[in-house]
Amino acid sequence: MIGTDINTAINFLKQGELVAIPTETVYGLAANAFDENAVLKIYHVKNRPQFNPLIIHTNSIEKLKSWDLVLPEKMLLLAAKFSPGPLTFVIKKSNTIPDIVTAGTDAVAVRIPNHKLTLELLSKLDFPLAAPSANPSGFVSPTKASHVFEQLGEHIPYILDGGDCEVGVESTIISFLDETPTILRFGGLSLEAIELVIGKVNTIFSQQSTVDSRPLTVNQPIAPGMLSRHYATKHKLIFDFKETDFNQYHHDRIGMISYSKNYTSIPISNQMILSPERKLAEAARKLFSAMREIDEKDIDVIFAEKFPDLDLGRAINDRLKRASVESK
Ligand code: AMP
Ligand code: MG
Repeated sequence: MIGTDINTAINFLKQGELVAIPTETVYGLAANAFDENAVLKIYHVKNRPQFNPLIIHTNSIEKLKSWDLVLPEKMLLLAAKFSPGPLTFVIKKSNTIPDIVTAGTDAVAVRIPNHKLTLELLSKLDFPLAAPSANPSGFVSPTKASHVFEQLGEHIPYILDGGDCEVGVESTIISFLDETPTILRFGGLSLEAIELVIGKVNTIFSQQSTVDSRPLTVNQPIAPGMLSRHYATKHKLIFDFKETDFNQYHHDRIGMISYSKNYTSIPISNQMILSPERKLAEAARKLFSAMREIDEKDIDVIFAEKFPDLDLGRAINDRLKRASVESK
C-alpha cells in the first residue's frame, strides 16, 4: 500500500513491520532498529548479505546521546551545519544498538535525514529506524515511491509517499573511528563542503568502500578487482567511453547517459541528458531515474559518460562505475 499517513507508518513500525520511507537522498526500507526480528526482515526482503551493516536514522542529536552514543567533536561540528542532511556518521557503537544493525562490528552508522514527512515520523518514535535503500540488493536505488512499489511492493506493508527525492544519490558516509575522519562513500554532500568545516579528511576510494556484498571497515582495504556489481541495470553499462567504442554496436541500439551533450549519431529518444546547463546537483537528482528509464528501452547497451570528478560528480561517477562492473 502507498500512502501519506504518518500514523499508519508508525503503527506498522511499532508492530515490527517494514515501512518504506522517503528521504532527500533515496527511499529507505525502514524497521525499528531496536527490534531484531524487524531488522532481519530488511535483510530478507532486500536479499542483502547479513554482513553489510545498516544506517540508523533519527531526528535529533539528543536522541543519539540518549542511546549512549559518544559523539566526536568534529561530528558535532558537521552535524550543526549539515544535519538534517545527506551525511552519515560512522562512530563507535553502544550496547543499546543491536549487533544485527551493525553486522557484528563495533561501529554504527547514523544519519538525520532531511525530509519533512520522515522527520515528523522520526520525531514521534522513541526508537531509531534502521534503513538501507529500498531496492533489492545490488540494483538501482529508488528515488520515487513508484520505484519502491515496482521492485518491492508485494513485500512491504506500507510505502510512505514523500514525492521525488531531492538529492537523488545516497548520503556521503564519513567515519570517525580513526583520528583523521575518513570518507567511506561519496554521496549527496560534497567532500569540498565537509573540508570547509573540519579541514582535511581522508578518503578510501582506492579501496572501493561501498561494495554491497562486503562488510565495510576502514582497516580492511578492498582491492578494485573485488569491486562487486551494484546499481545494476539489466543492460550492460559501459562507463567512461570513447566515441569510437560506439562502432561495436548498431548506433540505434545504443542508450546514453550524458551530462549535457547530445550525441547526434544516437537516436535522441535513447539519450538521457541529465543537465543541459551542467549542474551536478541536477544530474545527481536525475541519475537513478534515468538509469531505470534507459534500461526499459529496446537497446543493446548503455554508455555512460564520466562526470567531472568534483562535488557531486564524484558520487555520480562512483555509482556509474559500480553499475558498469560485469557480474560474474
Ligand atoms: P545503504 O543504506 O544501502 O546505502 O547502505 C548502507 C551502507 O552504509 C553500507 O553498505 C555501508 O557501506 C555503510 N555502513 C553502514 N553501517 C556501517 C558501519 N557500521 N561501518 C561502516 N560502514 C557502514
Ligand atoms: Mg543501497
